[in-house]
Amino acid sequence: MKRELLGVRFDAVTMDGAVTRALSLAQTRSGAYVCTPNPEIVMLARNDPTLLEAVNNASLVLPDGAGIVWAAKRLLRPVPERVAGYDFLLSLLGRLRGGVLIYGGRPGVAERAAETIAARYPNAAVCGAFDGYGDNEADVLAAIRRTRPALVMVCLGAPRQELWMAAHTDLPVGLMAGLGGSVDILAGTAKRAPLWWRSHGLEWLYRLLREPRRLRRQLRLPAFVLAVLRQARKEKRGL
Ligand code: UDP
Repeated sequence: MKRELLGVRFDAVTMDGAVTRALSLAQTRSGAYVCTPNPEIVMLARNDPTLLEAVNNASLVLPDGAGIVWAAKRLLRPVPERVAGYDFLLSLLGRLRGGVLIYGGRPGVAERAAETIAARYPNAAVCGAFDGYGDNEADVLAAIRRTRPALVMVCLGAPRQELWMAAHTDLPVGLMAGLGGSVDILAGTAKRAPLWWRSHGLEWLYRLLREPRRLRRQLRLPAFVLAVLRQARKEKRGL
């Protein structure tokens, strides 16, 4: 079931439901893709029709972030829980059978993430690791066509990863997933917010304190809150 929040159509799924759907998509090899929009991406998509279309054409749109869960409740279209991209990835890797190709991150990061996957998930065979900054797109496409992976982790940051997946649905892959900084966490080059911050809906603040350069991006958060409240008021008047 879809829940539309400020134009983005999210799937009202639990983590378990999301992984089960993703696994069945991965088996059908239809070039399906998953997006994991947080409030920042929703705000980007409001001003970028191409990005909005790319997100809404995904087979699965996961509510990634406490802000999305709050907005869904405030707009009376609740989603069952937060499905964070990184947690989704780990659950998926735990249950996936088949090849995994990693595309994105600074040079060396995808290789380190590949080592982590090889060590922790023997069921998933890494069949390629490519950084997201080099002039290597043709190599990535050739590797995908050759190895036909069950999962391609597309970690190019928003909006690049969403647009890339939307433009490549003809590839012979099970599933592509736009996972942003998950590649850094898997590689150990970035740290996930500790549980306390996450369970209090403060992952954004933790990340801001660790990486103050994110401030410009995070200034979209108050704009998101205002847009949700404005929409809620509009809908209440319309009732
Ligand atoms: N990234 C990339 N190529 C680019 C821009 C970003 O490979 O042209 C990578 C970046 O190195 C990082 C990931 O995309 O590993 C996520 O970037 P971002 O910080 O924008 O996303 P978030 O951390 O919010 O998921």
